[in-house]
Amino acid sequence: MNKIVVLDEQTIDKIAAGEVIERPSSIVKELVENAIDAGATAVTVEIKEGGISFIRITDNGSGIEAEQIPTAFLRHATSKIRTAEDLLDVTSLGFRGEALSSIAAVCQVELISKTPESLTGVRYLIEGGKEKNMEEIGAPSGTTFLVRNIFYNTPARKKFLKTPQTETGYISELMERMALSHPEVSFKFIAGSQVKLHTSGNHRLKDIIYNIYGRDITNNLLEVEKTFENGMKITGFIGKPVISRGNRNFENYFVNGRYIKSKIISKAIEDAYQSFMMKHKYPFTVLHFQIDTEMLDINVHPTKMELRFAENEKLYQDVYHTILNTLSHKEMIVQVSVGK
Ligand code: ADP
Ligand code: MG
Repeated sequence: MNKIVVLDEQTIDKIAAGEVIERPSSIVKELVENAIDAGATAVTVEIKEGGISFIRITDNGSGIEAEQIPTAFLRHATSKIRTAEDLLDVTSLGFRGEALSSIAAVCQVELISKTPESLTGVRYLIEGGKEKNMEEIGAPSGTTFLVRNIFYNTPARKKFLKTPQTETGYISELMERMALSHPEVSFKFIAGSQVKLHTSGNHRLKDIIYNIYGRDITNNLLEVEKTFENGMKITGFIGKPVISRGNRNFENYFVNGRYIKSKIISKAIEDAYQSFMMKHKYPFTVLHFQIDTEMLDINVHPTKMELRFAENEKLYQDVYHTILNTLSHKEMIVQVSVGK
């Protein structure tokens, strides 16, 4: 693991800044991404009251060295980039160094962490941005974040939270997307005393689709696997037109392990489906795009949900033809077998 350092002013100026902590699901997103970046193969998320009063995230990743822990909570402190040039080649999910400081500013945070090399772990308390305590403690390798009472010190922001049920729903959706985006990681999500999601981390995307969406959808999938001359790779599954949905919520796609929204990709997918589907229906997809970092700009929006692509028209064409070929090829097979 690289050392955690505070970025210099010029680099900070180049980062699309903004408030990333809006609700409990934003905290879960940032902390689960950190766990994935730390190489965790198992991540457990437990919440109470929709995450408003309690969030605990446990990972078996690299851990944070004891003397680095206070630094990790400083603004713009990160181990993932060093200079503005590194922004062109980000392979980690995080890089702004803002999440831990933003979370600690508005919550009561307890961190327990141990690196595989050190004999004991550390327990660190920070509340409203103020360090409260740091002590040695026995712990397994990895990191646990306990985040209590979001916005306890900013009641005006707390008012904008929804009911625990609704907040739980947001976190559920997020955890499903996390599981779909990282089939190599085992995720467990527990809300109250209920296990809402548990994936095995066996690398098989189809198992996760089955786990989340059930048998009907899993039985009606077409596999996609295509590599392009510029190095882009599209893998995953698309639904047969019979399982089309009434809204876009089932159009999932991930770029380099990151759930994103893209007008271009959505349009390419929907255009390809157009002749196979009724109006106002939307396809089911779970597609993974591997794209060279030099073809992408991820430093567009603080939540990193939007990307900029170097070659929009080519991306559209590649996605459109990949989906169309998959759909038409499989339709032909159906026709042939029906005709026999
Ligand atoms: P970023 O992810 O953008 O670097 P964060 O504020 O989210 O910024 O985290 C700051 C730093 O703390 C990270 O760069 C990383 O070195 C360390 N860190 C945070 N969470 C974990 C974790 N679960 N395991 C190991 N290191 C972590
Ligand atoms: Mg982060």
